[in-house]
Amino acid sequence: MDKILELIKKEEKRQAETLMMIPSENYTYPEVREAVGSILMHKYSEGYSGARYYQGNKIVDDIERLAVERAKKLFGTPHANVQPYSGSPANSAVYFALVNPGETVMGMQLKVGGHLTHGHPDITFSGKYFRSVQFGVDEDGRLNYSKIAKFAKVEKPKLMLIGTTAYPLAFDWKKFSEIADSIGAWLVADISHVIGLIVAGAYPSPINYAHVITSTTHKTLRGPRGAIIWVTNKGLKKDPVLPSKIDRAVFPGLQGGPHNNTTAGIAVALEKAEMPEFKKYGKQVVKNAIALGVALKMGGLSLYGDGTESHLVVVNLMPLGLSGNVVAEALEIAGVVVNRNSVPNDPMPPFYPSGIRLGTPAITARGMKEKEMEQIAEWILKVIDYVKAYKLPQNKDARNT
Ligand SMILES: *Cc1c(COP(=O)(O)O)cnc(C)c1O
Repeated sequence: MDKILELIKKEEKRQAETLMMIPSENYTYPEVREAVGSILMHKYSEGYSGARYYQGNKIVDDIERLAVERAKKLFGTPHANVQPYSGSPANSAVYFALVNPGETVMGMQLKVGGHLTHGHPDITFSGKYFRSVQFGVDEDGRLNYSKIAKFAKVEKPKLMLIGTTAYPLAFDWKKFSEIADSIGAWLVADISHVIGLIVAGAYPSPINYAHVITSTTHKTLRGPRGAIIWVTNKGLKKDPVLPSKIDRAVFPGLQGGPHNNTTAGIAVALEKAEMPEFKKYGKQVVKNAIALGVALKMGGLSLYGDGTESHLVVVNLMPLGLSGNVVAEALEIAGVVVNRNSVPNDPMPPFYPSGIRLGTPAITARGMKEKEMEQIAEWILKVIDYVKAYKLPQNKDARNT
């Protein structure tokens, strides 16, 4: 057997035997894996359904049409593009379609939960090619919308790309849209992390507020690695040619041939997302995160935002004097796989932050409920107690101890 197949088997075992609690990760469906591993990956299809640059695309056209129809149906939008290779390329395409280099864009700081592609300065294209301005959260770990509104009035961004990977509380999309509308800016909602919760009605939907929505398809949507860009009715009203601007930014602006196998996998996941079971799943993800947060708080831990209204909790380890790295590594040894994460006002750099981030999407996909969350919280608290008791050095030199 090829060494790689051996390693895949090992990884399969690891995924089955540990608790996957990284909030961006999930288990997809066997049908999605079948589509992604299929012969569809042999075909080149530059262009869009009915307008390809290659012959032999009649069946691929049908597949992409179906994927687009299902994507549009999910949120009732007039337009969807299912070709972006992943979440970051999807956001790149939106910038490319809507702003010129040097123009001002606004997003949430990485250290309080924004994504790299939301204008992180210096090291990302979104912070280098545009004039990026970013907002954080208040001392209490909450977004302050009136502060953001004042900031936006001063900086006048042309585009606000709003989304999060770690802010545990629900967004007020209406407030974001009022801010964007007051300065004539585009509002793009990046719902990569929470799309499945939105579909389930367990998290606020930006559909009536944003002009454009982007999302990955592999996180709470439980599809293959990929992304979708939607143009909403509001977006179409602001600019009737917005759909073609987005499409042209994806191809030929930034990408070549679409990954047809992924497109098929996305279509399968979108069909699953319409089922009543999926709504139940999304609601349970949030219930589980709330239960986990309550149990960890009762165990004495401090949480970002003091709790959660989504699929994740971020534990602030600063009051305990512990490093996110050491706790995350200790938890991995115990079979609880999480990631270290910055917390608001973190004095440490992102590679050695003072928090850990825990998500419930994958463990909920395994059928776990509130009862299991209490058990998991107990284990997490126990591991943190061990780390405290052993007084391990809590700096970067501790990484390999
Ligand atoms: C995951 C994520 C992305 C990037 O997706 P990739 O597929 O990793 O490129 C962008 N924005 C948000 C909010 C995300 O959570």
